[in-house]
Amino acid sequence: MDYREEMKYLRDYLNEQSYLYYVLDAPVIPDYEYDRLNRRLEELEAEHPEEITADSPTQRVGDKVLEGFASYAHDVPLESLQDVFNAAEVAEFGEKIDAALGADVEYSVEPKVDGLSVALEYRNGVFYRGATRGDGRVGEDVTENLRTIYSIPMTLPDQLPRLIVRGEVYMSRTVFEEINTLRELQGKPLLANPRNAAAGSLRQLDPKLCAERKLDIQIFNLQLAEGKTFTSHDDTLEYLASQRFKMIPHKTLKGIAAVQAEIDRINDERMDYPFDIDGAVVKVNNLTDREKLGSTAKFPKWAVAFKYPPEKKPSRIVDIVVQVGRTGVLTPKAVLEPVRLAGTTVTNATLHNQDYIAEKDIRIGDTVIVQKAGEIIPEILEVDFSKRPEGTVPYILPQTCPVCGAAVFRDEDGAALRCTGAECPAQLLRNLTHFASRDAMDIEHLGPAVVQQLVENDLIRNAADLYSLKAEDVAKLDRMGAKSAQNLILAIEKSKNNDLSKLIYGLGIRQVGEKAAKVLAAHFRTLDALMAASAEELTEINDVGAITAQCIVDFLAQPQSQDLIHRLVEAGVNTESTAQLIDDRFAGMTFVLTGTLERFDRKTAEAMIQDRGGKASGSVSKKTTYVVAGEAAGSKLKKAQELGIPVLSEDEFAAMLQ
Ligand code: AMP
Repeated sequence: MDYREEMKYLRDYLNEQSYLYYVLDAPVIPDYEYDRLNRRLEELEAEHPEEITADSPTQRVGDKVLEGFASYAHDVPLESLQDVFNAAEVAEFGEKIDAALGADVEYSVEPKVDGLSVALEYRNGVFYRGATRGDGRVGEDVTENLRTIYSIPMTLPDQLPRLIVRGEVYMSRTVFEEINTLRELQGKPLLANPRNAAAGSLRQLDPKLCAERKLDIQIFNLQLAEGKTFTSHDDTLEYLASQRFKMIPHKTLKGIAAVQAEIDRINDERMDYPFDIDGAVVKVNNLTDREKLGSTAKFPKWAVAFKYPPEKKPSRIVDIVVQVGRTGVLTPKAVLEPVRLAGTTVTNATLHNQDYIAEKDIRIGDTVIVQKAGEIIPEILEVDFSKRPEGTVPYILPQTCPVCGAAVFRDEDGAALRCTGAECPAQLLRNLTHFASRDAMDIEHLGPAVVQQLVENDLIRNAADLYSLKAEDVAKLDRMGAKSAQNLILAIEKSKNNDLSKLIYGLGIRQVGEKAAKVLAAHFRTLDALMAASAEELTEINDVGAITAQCIVDFLAQPQSQDLIHRLVEAGVNTESTAQLIDDRFAGMTFVLTGTLERFDRKTAEAMIQDRGGKASGSVSKKTTYVVAGEAAGSKLKKAQELGIPVLSEDEFAAMLQ
């Protein structure tokens, strides 16, 4: 086979496998086989770049970061839907339809996917452009991000001159949970819900970031098909399935009673769908009938969206338990007498924090009204005070961690209570991942997945245990092997020589970021000296505020912390610093770097700012002192100009460093 043939063969074969995997959910080859063939295709494409075609699976994730999104005018408007909220309103809709069309009308009933609407345009069977709904007439061109969704076909079996379909882009619940678990480990803010997560992802300017979000789509309408005619919605969905789109599940039914039964069934089974749904959509099936009915200024008259009400029911609080999350936050949870709500059995509800409990005066033994809106965790709406039994007492959260017994303290910036235990098992994964991260102890090969395995196999219980790991134990972990185990051990060994500043940062003391760690290391020189410092001494240091000082003192006073440090020292981890703050000429100043700098990479430039007492930040605000603009600076430069913040060229910045 010549290379052209082989490339075509690989493209077609891999696309077929993607279709089986992502659209039909029925993979036939193992992942590694897919990866192997994909790599072969990449090799051939590297050798013969002129032969790369747009439908190659390697072209899904582009590497160009966009400046912004172009606007896209929809040929066929993406209409909104009229909402209905109960069976009476559905019946009323049915009567209007009957009045216009006669009895026994056929309807399609579909789950209403809670994501965001997009249009996909194909020309001659090839994906051409795709856009968000916007105001229904003009949306944003998000073609590059849509390409990253593997269930969107890049080519179709039929080559109609133009074909436009409409669908709902979403993030599956599984992916949403995976991403949040990882973000929690990395100490990043959590995504609020799958819909916002999907919307935010589709609006990323860097397609790579969107690709990481593993979005998916359900196609629910044919907008336009040049050269084809259809008689019913049903037929259009069937045709689109034949064109390899991932289609919305739907049922075609006669009469409004059957429609209502289907709406209820979807509600009962809503947890069985991999995506969040917020209702069901009822549509007249016959396309000529739809035309007859027409649209109002806002909605089609031939469809309605049934919105599921948040269900409410009474239950009793049997107990209140406190969980410790991976970031050390204590979260109180009410244990409830089981109730059926929105298709699931609810046995607990979040109580958020002490303030929430106090405000609603929630007590063990109370009868409460529980609500489940959409798929979110159930909530307690209110206490039924008329049912409060004798002898209840206000609930106060414990003052020590229920998992490790260390003291808890109230977050300086919120209502949360947090455990201070350096070795608290509940926080272990996060603490260890942070310890190993690049800006802390910089232990290569020790990412969250490896940390998790080490902890689960009981090979480590705290950071000090890393230094007594044995290669042969590590080699037994999944996907490890002797060579990678050896590499990991070497990386751990190497981290012993780090400067004290990296160790201080790695300890994960609240409020002590990379810069504060450096300042502390440069000031105290040894860990012993830092440990001996009082809160007053700490506050005297430039850049260390009273809260930070207290966090440091509290942390170092914990027996768990002292034990950890003692063991790190025994293992031979360096506790001295040669870190130097060159001077404090940038004290109190905040710099934002944007565009490409020629002489320094970002990290180095940021370190140079910090070494001179300044702060480097990622976003421009009124607090920014200078913006340093390199080649091809974009939106940050614009913002600086709008806010009237002085902009430095790379040369001017370099001169300030001298
Ligand atoms: P609303 O935004 O509340 O007016 O509801 C209409 C939106 O529901 C549409 O813009 C679509 O994005 C979305 N939707 C989700 N699933 C479907 C479906 N099966 N049929 C029609 N629209 C749907």
